[in-house]
Amino acid sequence: MDDRIVTSQATDEERRVDSSLRPTSLADYVGQEKIKENLKVYIQAAKNRGDVLDHVIFYGPPGLGKTTLANIIAREMGVNIKSTSGPAVEHPGDLAAILSNLSEGDIFFIDEIHRLHPTVEEILYPAMEDFQLDIIVGQGPSARTLKLNLPNFTLIGATTRAGLLTSPLRDRFGVISRLEFYQPEELCRIVIRSAGILNVSIDEEAALEIAMRTRGTPRIANRVLRRVRDYAEVKADGHIDRNVAAQALTQMEIDSSGFDGMDRKLLLLIIQKFGGGPVGIETLATAVGEEKETLEDIYEPYLIQSGFLDRTPRGRMATDAAYAHFNLERPEAQPRLWK
Ligand code: ADP
Repeated sequence: MDDRIVTSQATDEERRVDSSLRPTSLADYVGQEKIKENLKVYIQAAKNRGDVLDHVIFYGPPGLGKTTLANIIAREMGVNIKSTSGPAVEHPGDLAAILSNLSEGDIFFIDEIHRLHPTVEEILYPAMEDFQLDIIVGQGPSARTLKLNLPNFTLIGATTRAGLLTSPLRDRFGVISRLEFYQPEELCRIVIRSAGILNVSIDEEAALEIAMRTRGTPRIANRVLRRVRDYAEVKADGHIDRNVAAQALTQMEIDSSGFDGMDRKLLLLIIQKFGGGPVGIETLATAVGEEKETLEDIYEPYLIQSGFLDRTPRGRMATDAAYAHFNLERPEAQPRLWK
């Protein structure tokens, strides 16, 4: 991947630090109030019945807390969690092996579940529906299907886009929850909480400054907090006040809207090279040298949500807010030559 400071993908450093910053209970998990409320009810009901929780899918852009929620659910249910990701399971046999090693009540978490290979995905259908594994033994006309009973378990899937799930898979989830970008006040609380864990001294105003410039995404807010801490230690006395935060953010080339170089490049390209759009996603991806999926999953959601980019059937368009952000005038619409 790239080394953008505002990328929402986890870096290696983050995977190490993440575990200390990850909230471990619903009470500690900031924001996503509706999801939390629903989960509390489902968890309580399942516990009362002595049953497993229904299969759950979380979808939304990376870094919003899907993996965290899966781990919290396991903890609140008092069960173990086994985790894997769609691309990591290469063969149906790999998945069968994981499933048959689950214990009663376990949570099985699959990140990037939309990237499961179709033949692997098929194994999941009877497993989710009847807690059964269909194994084919033998080949050709003598091949037979053996049914193996599995312990009752809960599958939690995470995906960046629900639209990429096949319908037989989607239909087998009882709970489908969409995570939203966080409000600045919520991110501010997350930054203050993380600063406490990391032993960093920070003003509330500074935390809000970081919150407003980190794309509504906790993973980015935590990352920026760590970089601002470095800056404060080297360039100031270690304490983060609003000035230090603003200077550090500017130094990282994150502007007042939380955009970094790549966001600006993308918007300016649409404005300057494609007359504001509409421009097709493939053309854009080639022009910025990124994969189409990367643009769709990582860069676009925040630009769309914050009103700088429009996704239309004819392609992507820069909005008036995007022109205003760069102090540019939108060109007059071309006069139509025919009616
Ligand atoms: P995803 O699985 O959606 O990519 P993660 O669950 O890995 O995102 O979250 C990334 C990091 O952001 C976590 O390690 C955690 O520190 C932080 N985080 C996410 N959601 C919250 C939240 N609601 N409250 C506090 N911290 C959060």
